[in-house]
Amino acid sequence: MSARFLDSFARPISYLRVSVTDRCNLRCVYCMPAEGIPLLGHQDILTFEEIEQVVRVAAGMGIHKIRLTGGEPLARAGLPELVRMLAAVPEVDDISMTTNGHLLPRHADDLAAAGLDRVNISLDSLRPERFRALTRNGDLERAWEGVRAAESAGLTPVKLNVVVMRGFNDDEVVDFARLTVAGGHHVRFIEVMPLGHNDLWAEDGFVPVRQVREQIESALGPLEQVGPDSPAAGSGPARYWRVPNAPGTIGFISPVSEHFCAGCNRLRLTAEGRLRPCLLSDAEVDLRGPLRSGKDEAELKALIASAIAGKPAGHRLGVGERAVAREMVQNGG
Ligand code: SAM
Ligand code: SF4
Repeated sequence: MSARFLDSFARPISYLRVSVTDRCNLRCVYCMPAEGIPLLGHQDILTFEEIEQVVRVAAGMGIHKIRLTGGEPLARAGLPELVRMLAAVPEVDDISMTTNGHLLPRHADDLAAAGLDRVNISLDSLRPERFRALTRNGDLERAWEGVRAAESAGLTPVKLNVVVMRGFNDDEVVDFARLTVAGGHHVRFIEVMPLGHNDLWAEDGFVPVRQVREQIESALGPLEQVGPDSPAAGSGPARYWRVPNAPGTIGFISPVSEHFCAGCNRLRLTAEGRLRPCLLSDAEVDLRGPLRSGKDEAELKALIASAIAGKPAGHRLGVGERAVAREMVQNGG
C-alpha cells in the first residue's frame, strides 16, 4: 500500500486520471464543437515513458488508482504497452479506462492481458439514429460490440456512462434502467457539465439526476441502495442503486446539483502534461517542461505536491454558470 498524501482540506489524493490524447473518432455534442478542436502536435503530447515517470512519482505520494481517458484513449496507438508499463508500478493496484468503445473489439484482449482491470463505456442513446446524431457519426452497434468485447475479455464490471440531456435522451432513462434488469448491465447517469463551448445546460438541457431517479422510480418502483461492498460500487463520486433483485446497478453522478467535492480524491493529467487539481477550474501545473528539461524525481514530486496544495475546496458551480475554457475532450474528462 502506498503513502497517504492529504490536500489542504485533509482529503487523501489517491486517484489520477491520465488523458493520453486529445484526439477522438467521435464529436459528442456535449464534449466537442462540431468542427473539432485545434489538435496538439505529436511532440506536444507526453510520451509513454513520460506518463510512466509521472505515475511512478505520484504513486510514491499515495496515488494508486489510474484511469486512462482522453479524447478517445484508444485513438492513441500502442495503448496496451502503456497499460503494461503502468501495471508494473508497484503501488498501482487499479487501472481502468473510459472509452466510447468503438475500437474495443480490436484491443480488449490485449488491454486485459497488459493489466487493464475494467472499462467504462460512454453510451448516451439506445436508438441508432439518435446515437449517431449525439456522437456526430458514432455507430451504436459498434459501441455494443465494444461492450461485449470488454465483457468477454474480463474488463468488468463494465459500466455504461449516460450523460442525460433534456430533449436529446431524457426520454430513454427508463429504457436504460431496464438494461440493469434484463441484461445485468451497470448504468450510470451523469449530469451534463458546463465546459468549453457547451451551452446545453444553459439552454434548458440540464437534467438533475434527482429527476432521472424520479422518472425511473415512477416506472419501475422504488430503487434500493447498493452497499459499498458491491463490485459496482467503486470509490468515485457515483452513488449506486438497483431495481430490487436486478443483477445490474444504477449509478447517479451529480457534479452540478449535488457537489461531491468534499470527497474528491483525484487529479488529472492532460495529454500535454499539465496537472489539473480540479476538473472545474482552469488552474494547472506544467510537468512536461520540467520532465523534458531533466528535472529529477524530487523536483517532480514538489510540483505534484504544489498541484495538490492548490486543489480548491470545491467548485461553486450552479445551473446557469459556465465553468472552464477547455473543452471536456481537452480536459481528461
Ligand atoms: N472518449 C472517451 C469516452 O467518451 O468515454 C473518454 C473521454 S470522455 C471526455 C470522458 C467522459 O466524459 C465520458 O463519459 C463523457 O460522456 C463525459 N463527458 C464529456 N463531456 C461532458 C460534459 N460536458 N458533461 C458531463 N460529462 C461529459
Ligand atoms: Fe470523444 Fe468521448 Fe468526447 Fe465523445 S465524450 S467526443 S467520444 S472524447
